[in-house]
Amino acid sequence: MGYKLISTWKMSYRKMSEVKEMLKRKYSLQEIIEAVIMAVEDNPDFQSVGYGGLPNSEGIVELDAGYMDGDSLAFGAISGVRNIKNPILVASSLIKGKTNNYLTARGAEKYAKEKGFKSRRMLTEKAREKYQNRVKENSHDTICVIGRDLNGSMAVGVSTSGLFMKHPGRVGDSPIIGSGYYCDSQIGGAAATGIGEDIMRGCLSAAIVNYMRQGLNAQKACQEALFSYLKRVNNEPKAISLIALDKDGNYGACSTLPDFPFVILDENNQARLMVYRGQEKRIIEADENWINSYQGD
Ligand code: ASP
Repeated sequence: MGYKLISTWKMSYRKMSEVKEMLKRKYSLQEIIEAVIMAVEDNPDFQSVGYGGLPNSEGIVELDAGYMDGDSLAFGAISGVRNIKNPILVASSLIKGKTNNYLTARGAEKYAKEKGFKSRRMLTEKAREKYQNRVKENSHDTICVIGRDLNGSMAVGVSTSGLFMKHPGRVGDSPIIGSGYYCDSQIGGAAATGIGEDIMRGCLSAAIVNYMRQGLNAQKACQEALFSYLKRVNNEPKAISLIALDKDGNYGACSTLPDFPFVILDENNQARLMVYRGQEKRIIEADENWINSYQGD
């Protein structure tokens, strides 16, 4: 079976297109997941992740990230961090410890400084203007990447600036293991994006992996996790999107949105931009018309 990778949103497409080259240069799965996430974190055009992310209600950018290794089930996470250039690198470095795997706010920043991770002033001029004008359109997303290498090892990484205008200290699902991400190489991996409070209430990434544990493939597990949860909460959540990859290499995606773009690597290691269409409950490949009309990240 070939190399497998799935990531959220159109914003991941450009770096996913470079994975083929990275594979030739023998990057590890962790390095590839980090590289895709870092490319989005470093790009100021994306207003929901890393540099250029939209700030909280006090005008401060607070970032969350998580990483899980599916072989050992080790995880690392940080939340509420300010002025750290690449939160994903700090989160993934925390998988090494037996304790202190999830650090928050000033403690996480202290750790990042001690370990020499790069800092950066994360509020861009564009984000500051949006804050001043309270421009609320499309104001949250998370970059999530799940992968499976040629040996069957799996991992997942996530990074976000959370909700625009959130209360200082508010943390969503993204750094919370089992909610924003979960991965077990013997079963599969899952990750979520959307309103974190709704995702946490359903522990949706763990729910997907549990459905895969029961034998559902990645697509069926995403659908089952989302639709059974929506039924339970009377269809109230309006912005939840999920991706999954099972141990057999099948991709899955599901969403409450009319259009949820995500990216996969095909059998030739080419990136392909796909769209889960919420109303039709099916996946299509994005064509030029779709790409030209899509407004979001
Ligand atoms: N899940 C993120 C949060 O609630 C935001 C998103 O993915 O849209 O912080």
